[in-house]
Amino acid sequence: MGFTVAIDGPAAAGKGTISRAVAQTFGFAHLDTGLLYRATGRKLLETGFSPEESAKAVVPEDLERDGLRTQAVAELASRVATIPEVRAALVAFQRDFARREGGAVLDGRDIGTVICPDAEVKLFVTASAECRAERRFRELKEAGQAARLEDVLDEVRKRDARDMGRSDAPLRPAEDAVTIDTTDMSIEEAVAVAEAAVRAKLEEAI
Ligand code: C5P
Repeated sequence: MGFTVAIDGPAAAGKGTISRAVAQTFGFAHLDTGLLYRATGRKLLETGFSPEESAKAVVPEDLERDGLRTQAVAELASRVATIPEVRAALVAFQRDFARREGGAVLDGRDIGTVICPDAEVKLFVTASAECRAERRFRELKEAGQAARLEDVLDEVRKRDARDMGRSDAPLRPAEDAVTIDTTDMSIEEAVAVAEAAVRAKLEEAI
């Protein structure tokens, strides 16, 4: 049986943590779709292919490589993600993943709106820009990377503007998405809300 959980939202809102927890609790496969755009950006730098050719050349092993999670690659990813041909080249892989046997969680920006409009569960995970920048700043510090909070906030705002303002598949909640604002929530609380939404739909499906 296919069962798709679509989790969208801006950078550093907690989507990744929630997605991994939901996948583990329910035994679903998980795809962080941001990695597809990150791998495309990197392919472009390494090969000199066009953005579209770079997207078409991405293979699953590219998503496992080190170095995809840096700020520089994130910036590049959000640039290639504005190009319609790049987005189109990545659709089939995401849809195939979403309908695999045993259930799937996909997190990104346009999963509930464009990639899987028929997903059984749609969540929109968000938080204030200040709160997201603070979290990202702490992560960078813990990883030993030098950063200034105001630069991280600036980066978060720029990426939001690009993700929400692009004409093809802009970041926005699907009409039937459940919004989880994690600004004043612990990660445990946010995961509990997400899991309750999945459980309710699974019970309906039985
Ligand atoms: O989620 P992550 O920060 O890894 O995504 C990197 C960039 O890839 C985002 O800023 C966004 O521009 C793009 N992206 C997208 N659609 C998705 C996932 C990511 O446009 N489904």
